[in-house]
Amino acid sequence: MILYLSSFRNFPKLWKGSLSLALGPGHSSRCLFLTIYSGIRNQQRWFSVKTQSPQNTKGMNLLIAKSRYPRKENANSKEVASELPHLFAAGAAKKRSQVNSPQTQAHALPPVKNTIQLPTKPLNSEEWDKLKEDFKGKANFEDWIISQMAHCHSSVNVAKSLLAWVAAKNNGIVGYNLLVKYLHLCVLHKQTSEVIDVYEIMKARYKTLESGGYSLLIRGLIHSDRWREALLLLEDLKKVMIPSKRNYDDCIQGALHHQDVNIAWNLYQELLSNNLVPMLETLKAFFDFGKDIKDDHYSNKLRDILFYLRNNQLYPGESFAHSIKTWFESIPGKQWKGQFATIQKSGQCSGCGRTIESIHLSPEEYDSLKRRIMSDVIDGGDQYKKTTPQELKKFENFVKSCPPFDIVIDGLNVGKMFPKIRESQFLLDVVSQLAKKNLQLLVLGRKHMLTQGSRWRKDEMKKVQQLAHCFFAEDISEDDPFLLYATLNSGNHCKFITKDLMRDHKACLSDAKTQHLFFKWQQGHQLVITNRFPGSKISFQHSLSYDTVVQTTGDSWHIPYDEDLVERYSYEVPTKWLCLQQKT
Ligand SMILES: [Zn+2]
Repeated sequence: MILYLSSFRNFPKLWKGSLSLALGPGHSSRCLFLTIYSGIRNQQRWFSVKTQSPQNTKGMNLLIAKSRYPRKENANSKEVASELPHLFAAGAAKKRSQVNSPQTQAHALPPVKNTIQLPTKPLNSEEWDKLKEDFKGKANFEDWIISQMAHCHSSVNVAKSLLAWVAAKNNGIVGYNLLVKYLHLCVLHKQTSEVIDVYEIMKARYKTLESGGYSLLIRGLIHSDRWREALLLLEDLKKVMIPSKRNYDDCIQGALHHQDVNIAWNLYQELLSNNLVPMLETLKAFFDFGKDIKDDHYSNKLRDILFYLRNNQLYPGESFAHSIKTWFESIPGKQWKGQFATIQKSGQCSGCGRTIESIHLSPEEYDSLKRRIMSDVIDGGDQYKKTTPQELKKFENFVKSCPPFDIVIDGLNVGKMFPKIRESQFLLDVVSQLAKKNLQLLVLGRKHMLTQGSRWRKDEMKKVQQLAHCFFAEDISEDDPFLLYATLNSGNHCKFITKDLMRDHKACLSDAKTQHLFFKWQQGHQLVITNRFPGSKISFQHSLSYDTVVQTTGDSWHIPYDEDLVERYSYEVPTKWLCLQQKT
């Protein structure tokens, strides 16, 4: 898409430092004749809004994580394993990967090599000409340099001198690419008057924009007096697509910023009805705004947000948690007191001593989960078939012939847990120790484990078979479905041992509610071996006894939150809580 300016002599004026636009009051818009041609649709992807370089963020987090959890180099030290955080604790995966791979990359990748240095101050025409001559790349120089400038957050004035040069050189023609990337820089640097100038040009000459252009204009306008026009742009956007959660966030923040609470809540409702998951920033904005509002209607809506977090297993970030605390403490006459706390193994809050909701599934939840696992994961469509119907039937009959199990062991996975220990020996160690406690054990394995080899010794496997029920599947079968079936079929008391986190199975479950039940069940039933040294007693990490979810008893709230500097994987839960108590 190209912007034509027939009266090109006016164009350089547009991009001079004064920000005065020919389209402004007192000027006739006829002095600019802009024509747009070429399709709009192809332009969707060519810019993206980046606020930070992802590599740098990663490198930063890594360094911070490293300083929090100094890596133990001595792998023979017994403390290593026992110091590992809980399998499901935020940051645990990160820490495991650091313990296991000493060569973890510590530095961000070097930036893509530039053939030329980006200017740091506005250039005149001669200087731009010179720079273009020096450019050795194959790409179009103008497009390349504006992309680099957008990426490196160059100043608006430098970009403006580029556009003026391009306009002067091309009879007033400026590519839409350049214009939108310029807009990106204006929005980034919060140059609102400049945003409005570009908005005027676009509004005058384009019937519709592509989504990127709309999004930038919305973001740029919400902080100006003309913020309501951002809502009109949102309406335009809705004609062709569902706006993004970010578009809604911008409009809601704009409405709150200008004290229009009704518009903000209406947009929030619309966002939810589009099945979008709101950005946490949006929710936080409602709490931040709420501390100056004293009405029950507003308070109830904020409570609804907390229930939304609960129902969707979402956790606020650290600053959002602070906003929630501040809002509760600001409610007049209610005397809420907030503190940051942790939960003890027993499930008791370190702040108030109350017991957090149990992780254990109710009989109804357990039955519902069991039914869904059986139908979605085990019997499921071909896509998820991990075994043959004959083998599954054989396994079902085998399970029926045994008493309910207390612990189901993924034999192959447990055997391979520590590379320096022979598989069959470690499996036997685990099984013998558990058998001493008079537990009904099931070891799931593959047929190849019964063939004598250096890793699987026949005598040791024979002993395993004497101490536990064993089922050996075909080597090509996946043992996870068997593990899930046997554990769930044995009842709510039965636990299982595997290092595997079974994320694939969670993904197979068709609805979010069942996925959550599965995750809850997994946290409460998966045993993890924490001791990795042969000869010594094997120790297990206790499964969590409490459910990490936003919860209330009416006069108390407990809200798990993510710390800013801890990277949490999707299958981990936060370890920090906001404890809120009402003094009565
Ligand atoms: Zn508490």
